[in-house]
Amino acid sequence: MGRVYNFSSGPAMLPQPVLEKVQSELLDWRGSGMSVMEMSHRGDDFTGIAERAEAALRRLLDIPDGYRVLFLQGGATAQFSMVPMNLLRGSSADFIDTGIWSKKAMAEAAHYGKVRLAGTGEAQGFTRVPAQEVLDFDPAAAYVHYTPNETIGGVEFSYVPDSGSVPLVADMSSTILSRPMDISRFGLIYAGAQKNIGPAGLTLVIVREDLLGEPITGTPTVFDYRVYADNASMYNTPPTFAWYIAGEVFAWIEGEGGLSAMGERNQRKAAKLYALLDATGFYRAPVAQDSRSWMNVTFSLVDEALDATFLAGAEMVGLKNLKGHRTVGGMRASLYNAMPEAGVDALVEYMREFERTHG
Ligand code: PMP
Repeated sequence: MGRVYNFSSGPAMLPQPVLEKVQSELLDWRGSGMSVMEMSHRGDDFTGIAERAEAALRRLLDIPDGYRVLFLQGGATAQFSMVPMNLLRGSSADFIDTGIWSKKAMAEAAHYGKVRLAGTGEAQGFTRVPAQEVLDFDPAAAYVHYTPNETIGGVEFSYVPDSGSVPLVADMSSTILSRPMDISRFGLIYAGAQKNIGPAGLTLVIVREDLLGEPITGTPTVFDYRVYADNASMYNTPPTFAWYIAGEVFAWIEGEGGLSAMGERNQRKAAKLYALLDATGFYRAPVAQDSRSWMNVTFSLVDEALDATFLAGAEMVGLKNLKGHRTVGGMRASLYNAMPEAGVDALVEYMREFERTHG
């Protein structure tokens, strides 16, 4: 069959030109006589790779001076602990609850300090994010945590919450690099790599320097942000190969026209799929219009008895991993940066045809 359109929520598709480049450099990285996988993380070759990756990310996101970029491990899940260990420091943190991932972040933070709900989408079954007007922030909170894009529910904020002078912490795992954003609105951003950044194993943290301070007592050294900030993320061995591929992905994004080009393309991709969902009584999109994710489009077949046939038929034509998360059922099409527009077109065509033959 060759390469398929993989709609997985992550690990997800990588840009094909990146995979081809990595393949061409796999055995001998630019005359070094070795693979990046085999390089010392402290040698000149890898240090250069690491620095160029960070520089490209800074250009892409226009990261202001005064922010540090950390290349970590442990996934976004480790950040559910690392953020409170480093930022909670005896006070209370506010959380906006929009679904499974924000709940997990809040539950983990509760091990280290006080947590407080500043808003929730629970009453609407997590099909809509709370509006700014109903958010109720504690001005004395250490930070406000939210999940700009809930990967499982397919629910996304169309606005950046205004938390006043309280630092805003965002789990951007499934939305980072999908469009331009204003980093200065955030105190800390974290993201697992396996959606829009690169392969699993790398976790990015972008943190405002003034938030770096003494973590809570008992924090392991490998969970102390300052240790990474002070050692160029090389206190211990970083995930070198994933870091290198992330750098190649950043270069690919720059070559494609940067985040404004990504944003236009991603908006168009999502709009095509939502337009189809809105135009039929055969499919159903559960998420409210103003909270629809560009990255994870959730939908269901009104007749659930057809789910298995729908998925099997999709697989046959190279449209893979459309099954929704086990906790919510239905379908989910993840349309990260590396999903070509042609993949969305193929999905839309398949869905139209499926409706025609089964509707
Ligand atoms: N937060 C969000 C929004 C996610 O989508 C995911 C993974 N799908 C996670 C956290 C957990 O990430 P990881 O598996 O990298 O720990």
